[in-house]
Parts: sequence; C-alpha cells; structure tokens
Amino acid sequence: MHTLLTAAQLSEGIDRLARDVRQAYGDCPLTVVGVLTGSVVVVSDLIRRLEGPVRLSMVWASSYRGTATRAGRLDLRLDLLPDLTGQHVLLVDDIFDSGRTLEAILADLRGRGAASVRSLVLLRKQGRAEVAIEPDFVGFDIPDLFVVGYGLDYDGAWRHLPHLAVLDADDIVTGGASTADSPG
Ligand code: 5GP
Ligand code: MG
Repeated sequence: MHTLLTAAQLSEGIDRLARDVRQAYGDCPLTVVGVLTGSVVVVSDLIRRLEGPVRLSMVWASSYRGTATRAGRLDLRLDLLPDLTGQHVLLVDDIFDSGRTLEAILADLRGRGAASVRSLVLLRKQGRAEVAIEPDFVGFDIPDLFVVGYGLDYDGAWRHLPHLAVLDADDIVTGGASTADSPG
C-alpha cells in the first residue's frame, strides 16, 4: 500500500471544495445528502467548513461485494431522506468511478421537488465514466487505481486512514480481514 494523497493535501482539497460550493450557492441554505458509507469522512470535514446554513441527510449505496475491486449490482436505500421540496440539495460521494451510483441517486433526487440538485465528489477516477453526467464539484482527479482511506474501504477495512492510499496487487490478494459484504 502506498500513499496517493496525504492528509494535508486532502484537507486543502476540502478547503477548496467548500469555497467553491459557497461561491456557487452564496449564503443560501443547503441540504447536503451524503452517500453511506464511503462519504462519511468527506461529508463531516466538508460541512464544518461550509459557512452558512446546512442540513444533513444520508442515503446508502453499495456496488461492491467483499474483496471485489470492480463494481457489481447497485443497491440503493433512499428511505431515510426527509422532504426535499424547495431545498438546494448537494449530493456528496467519496468517488466517481463508473458514475452509476451518482447517476441513479441524482435521478431519484430530481424527482423530489428540490429547488436545485447538484453533486460533489472528493475523487474522480480517470477514464472510467460510463455515464453522460459529470459531478458539479470535484476534489481530485486520480488515476484508475483502487484506493482506500479517508472513508473508502477494501472489504470493510481501511476507512479510518487519514490519508488516501493505493492498494497494490499483493494487498488485494492477501488483504481484507473478512469475507463479509462491505457497503461502499
Ligand atoms: P460508481 O458507481 O461511480 O462506479 O462507483 C462509486 C462507488 O464505488 C463509490 O461510492 C465507492 O463506494 C466505490 N468505489 C469506486 N472506486 C473505488 C475505489 O477505488 N476504492 C474504493 N474503496 N471504493 C471505490
Ligand atoms: Mg460509495
């Protein structure tokens, strides 16, 4: 495993994202919708830098199973969402890979009467998009490598790392402590 982005670089990226978001929205109240589980760290760092009124809700999505490093079937749980009518919604996820997770959640959110719906991702993987949409705010473009840390897991492990790391081939063969499903 080797470091791709240090904690300091991530922190600068979140500062920049928070500034860009506030520049786009001004002082208007914002409803951040985070995608469990991988976005918990970026969401918690981001909302504390967003000056002005913020509400927070979470949805759940998973397209990974156990030790796989390519997406499988997408499972979504959006039943925790409050009424979004008239709100300015910012969907926040950890990483834009194929884009299928964001595309599916955005499609649902757009049917809920929000005043606006935009999206933010900490990371975007180069050359992987399978959808026509792009996130409105992107922290970092990264190469097509499987990354962990700062909320992102491999088979349930490594979310707690303060930096972003790349799993090497031998980590993927031997890594991961369990065979349990790992909601992304
Ligand atoms: P997409 O639907 O864009 O293909 O995938 C988005 C989801 O897949 C992310 O929210 C994340 O949970 C997971 N994912 C995609 N790439 C990676 C990666 O490199 N590392 C980890 N840990 N998860 C990833
Ligand atoms: Mg995810």
